[in-house]
Amino acid sequence: MKVLVINCGSSSIKYQLFDMPQKELLAKGLVEKVGEGKSILTHQHKGREFRSEVPVSNHEEGMKLIMKTLTDKETGAISDISRIDAVGHRVVHGGENFSGSVKITKDVLETIEEYADLAPLHNPPNLAGIMAISSILPDVVQAAAFDTAFHQTIPQKAYMYAIPRDLYEKFGIRRYGFHGTSHRFVARRAVTLMGKAKKETNVITCHLGNGCSITAVKNGKSVDTSMGLTPLEGLVMGTRSGDIDPAIIFYLAERQGMSTRDINTILNKKSGLLGVSGVSNDMRNVLEEASKGNDKAELAIEIFCYRIKKYIGAYTAVLGHVDAVAFTGGIGENSALIREKVLDGLECLGIRLDTNRNCDDSKAERLISSRDSKVDVFVIPTDEEGRIAYDTHKIASGKGEAG
Ligand code: AMP
Repeated sequence: MKVLVINCGSSSIKYQLFDMPQKELLAKGLVEKVGEGKSILTHQHKGREFRSEVPVSNHEEGMKLIMKTLTDKETGAISDISRIDAVGHRVVHGGENFSGSVKITKDVLETIEEYADLAPLHNPPNLAGIMAISSILPDVVQAAAFDTAFHQTIPQKAYMYAIPRDLYEKFGIRRYGFHGTSHRFVARRAVTLMGKAKKETNVITCHLGNGCSITAVKNGKSVDTSMGLTPLEGLVMGTRSGDIDPAIIFYLAERQGMSTRDINTILNKKSGLLGVSGVSNDMRNVLEEASKGNDKAELAIEIFCYRIKKYIGAYTAVLGHVDAVAFTGGIGENSALIREKVLDGLECLGIRLDTNRNCDDSKAERLISSRDSKVDVFVIPTDEEGRIAYDTHKIASGKGEAG
């Protein structure tokens, strides 16, 4: 079965075509700058990379370009688009309605639309991608994998904010959590690597990429996570502040006369690594500047790592005992220095790194803790697309909800 996995952002479409169930990656690519005049397509097939510039004015045009590329004589992996059996979409916000991936129906579409209020940057492009596929491949099964789904097991005491209850009842204001597909995948891999049973294993998963979040997984279920109503809460990220005192917002609005729109931009787009370092939102650049002695870049790294360390301590308390800590995402998978700084001093929690294993820069998943560490520490490259393909294949084969 050929399964196409789609991840639509506001101006980008990422895609991967798999042959399932063996999860063979046939082709993958990215359309960037959708709606911005000069769009860029990058496509990989059989170890070769193709790049072209084609104006793409909206998601439907982008999707048509992807179909053309996938079926092209030179770049294509399939002879005709009718060879695509199912399409799986990453959808950011599914609210309280979905605890696993589902087949997309009219009701599911309406729910995704409903949650666009809470995820205005994400759900509308996710919907645009689904609509584009509906028009190009009207008979194909489509599935949605929600970033929020894995976190639906979080108990009320962890997902409710201590604000008047009617704000939850009227507006759905609560912690939802994101990056769920990644946390679920990584937690399950960690359990498999330890050779333990999911039902008796606790893992703390750290997804450290452009967006960062950390999750406490108890017996295979998410019981707490750092992102909240939106992805702004929690860890320090590329451009997001993570946790702050909410009174900062009133101060900026009331005392400094800033508009809520400006404050939103500051906290989501101008804070985090970028805001503190003044250098970049990209960890590689911040690390490079810090190595040259830039003290703002150094401070950004210190704040970034300290926040993660605090959450590991908190989630150790939440879980009671921790079997493993797992790192994933562009930073979590690739930066030995960040992992070392995050775990430095956590011997009190039974966590000890093995320096050689930590610095081994192979891309493979691996154990990086020392033999005498009570807690296993892993690097596990995330595979959100593979997981979405797996769920989509399951749904399209008629085996119901997946997750
Ligand atoms: P992602 O969103 O998962 O693609 O991760 C993007 C982040 O990973 C960016 O901040 C990159 O700078 C960071 N990253 C990628 N490779 C490395 C590396 N070798 N060392 C440190 N950070 C990296």
